[in-house]
Amino acid sequence: MNTVATRMMISPPKYVQGAGAVGTLGEHVARLGENAVVLADNGVWALVDEAVTQSLSAAGVKLTKEIFGGLCTQKEIDRITAVAEQAGADVVIGIGGGTAIDTAKAVGHARGDIAVVSAPTVASTDAPTSALAVIYTEEGAFERYSFFSRNPNLVLVDTQLVAGAPSRFIVSGMGDALATWYEARVCVAAERTAMAGGLATGASLALAKLCWETLMEYGPQARLAAEQHVVTPALEKITEANTLLSGLGFESCGLAAAHGIHNGLTVSHKVHGMMHGEKVNIGTLAQLILEGAPTAELDTYLEFSLAVGLPTTLAGIGLGDADREELLAIGRASTAEGETTHNMPFAVTPQMVADALVGGDAYARAYARKHAA
Ligand SMILES: [Zn+2]
Repeated sequence: MNTVATRMMISPPKYVQGAGAVGTLGEHVARLGENAVVLADNGVWALVDEAVTQSLSAAGVKLTKEIFGGLCTQKEIDRITAVAEQAGADVVIGIGGGTAIDTAKAVGHARGDIAVVSAPTVASTDAPTSALAVIYTEEGAFERYSFFSRNPNLVLVDTQLVAGAPSRFIVSGMGDALATWYEARVCVAAERTAMAGGLATGASLALAKLCWETLMEYGPQARLAAEQHVVTPALEKITEANTLLSGLGFESCGLAAAHGIHNGLTVSHKVHGMMHGEKVNIGTLAQLILEGAPTAELDTYLEFSLAVGLPTTLAGIGLGDADREELLAIGRASTAEGETTHNMPFAVTPQMVADALVGGDAYARAYARKHAA
């Protein structure tokens, strides 16, 4: 085992973003292969079938359409891997949200690292750019991270589709992206190894910082644009922040307690209706409390969260009636072996997580009361 501390940054070789970008999918995919399995759920197929079929056919790419089951589980990965093998596919394309894309990445890896294309139709997570997948149990609880040898060959985001989705998706993506800087700075200060396999570079830290600055500047504007389903420069900037800046930032700087506590929260069935970034936002608040963040920093987090409509209280993610036992169970899962919570510069116990969740919730409720117009 090499003990030399190296800095490392990884990323997809190509990122494409714009209104109507799905129409250009074929020309990019044709450079990667000629036989594609395309994976999307029924709702996403209804949106993109015509454009995707037309674009791939025009570029001479054969396609096999597959309906995604909705969760990135080992069973679903195995099922679609068999489809890709049967079809002799040399490209796998995941279209939709983070789970469809993560499944496509896992299938690409299982098929001997055939080309992977990630085409998010929503800006709800930073999964599309990374070389890892989050595997869930059949019940929808976090199971493990799965790491691959490389990032997707192509990430293509159509902002017309992003704007067409319910605004809750891009708002949730802002919750995922907001955590990136807070987690990155912890990992850098504590010299933790990032998901990419090394210490952070100045470049990835700068991207994480830019992600945070972009959210502060354009987040509320982008929420309003998404509510009207229009593509504006602010919506473009937030789509990039949620997808590219957050993706490169977290993967090459590292995750910490915000995501560790997110994973812990998934042991409670009460939060299963919540989106990834909504739960992460509670994890971020708990991380700030654990760090003993100054009041001004908590207030910045709360002002932003309320302006874009992210949950800040336990009730906001369905845990309003959680008792101590339940919070401790979440704390235990948040501090399980291998969890990114251990990237914090001090030891974190289940009790500390439970206390931080309650402390953050109380502060957020007091802040909301004070600022209710
Ligand atoms: Zn995340």
